Amino acid sequence: DLPADIATAKKNGAAGVGLYRTEFLFMDRTTVPGEEEQFYAYARIVKAFKGAPVIIRTLDVGADKPLRRAAPRETTNPALGLRGVRYSLRDPQHFKTQLRAILRASAYGAARIMFPMLTGMQELVQVAQLLEEAKAELAARKHRFNVRIPLGCVIETPAAALLAKRLGRCVDFLSIGTNDLVQYTLAVDRGDNDVAHLFDPLHPAVLLLIRNIIRAGLEARVPVTLCGEMAGDLRYTRLLLGLGLREFSMNSASLLEVKWLIQNSDVSRLRARVNRLLASHTPQEALALLERINK
Ligand code: PEP
Ligand code: MG
Repeated sequence: DLPADIATAKKNGAAGVGLYRTEFLFMDRTTVPGEEEQFYAYARIVKAFKGAPVIIRTLDVGADKPLRRAAPRETTNPALGLRGVRYSLRDPQHFKTQLRAILRASAYGAARIMFPMLTGMQELVQVAQLLEEAKAELAARKHRFNVRIPLGCVIETPAAALLAKRLGRCVDFLSIGTNDLVQYTLAVDRGDNDVAHLFDPLHPAVLLLIRNIIRAGLEARVPVTLCGEMAGDLRYTRLLLGLGLREFSMNSASLLEVKWLIQNSDVSRLRARVNRLLASHTPQEALALLERINK
C-alpha cells in the first residue's frame, strides 16, 4: 500500500508486487496528483524491485475508500455505485493521466497494469481504447515506455468470475480479489460489523467461484494470482493450494509464514480434501474440514 512497505517486502523475499493500491496517492488530500507526481511514485517502486513484476492497480476509489475532494453523494448502495474502474471511466482525462504515469514507469522495470471492479468485457474494451490513446500521447511527447506492458484484471465481482475465461483471453493475467468477491457473492458488506459473521471465505459459493477462476486461467493460458486478504491468511493457504492456486499476493508481513507453510505442504494430497470441503453444507462442517486440511 505504501512506499514504506517496499523494504519489508524485499527483506521477506517477495518475488514482486502483486497489488500496488494507487488510491493511497489520491486519498486524504483535496487535489488530484498530476502525471509527474504519479510517475515518480510508480517509478520508485518499479525501480526498487529491479525487474521483478510490479502490478500497479489503477485507481480504486468509492464505497469504503471515498475521495476527500468529492462531495458526499446521496446513494443507497455505495458499494454498487461509482467505484473502481467505473469511476475512472467516468473521467477519462484523469484516467489517462494515471495510465500515462504508469506507462512511463514501465520504462524502468517490469510494471504491469491491473484494472479493478470489472463486470465484463465492455469495460475492458473501453480501458484498452484509453490505454492506446495514452500510449499515442506519450509517443508524441517522445517518452519511453513498454509498448507491450502486461494487462490484467481483478476478478472481484461474481459477473467477472463467471466470465473469467473470456476476460483471461484478452489480458495477460488475472488476479482474484477475494475481499470484494466475498462481499458481492454473499451480499455481505465487508465493512459492516453487524454482518461480519456472514463474511465467510469458506462459503461453498465463494470457493466454487475461486476454483472456476483458477480453471479459467488455465484454459485461457494466463497466470492467476490471488490478491485479497485470504492469500496472506495461514488458515487458507493449503485450501488455496488445493484449489490450484500457485501465485499468492499478500501484505509483506505475512510472506515468511505463508512461504514456510507452502514449502511444508503436500499439494498432491490436498485436492481431494478440498473437494470434500467444497461439498460441505454448513459453516461448521466447512470449518471442521479446514482443520483437517491444516493438521
Ligand atoms: C479485494 O477486493 O480483494 C482487493 C484486493 O482489493 P481491495 O481490498 O483494495 O478492494
Ligand atoms: Mg477490491
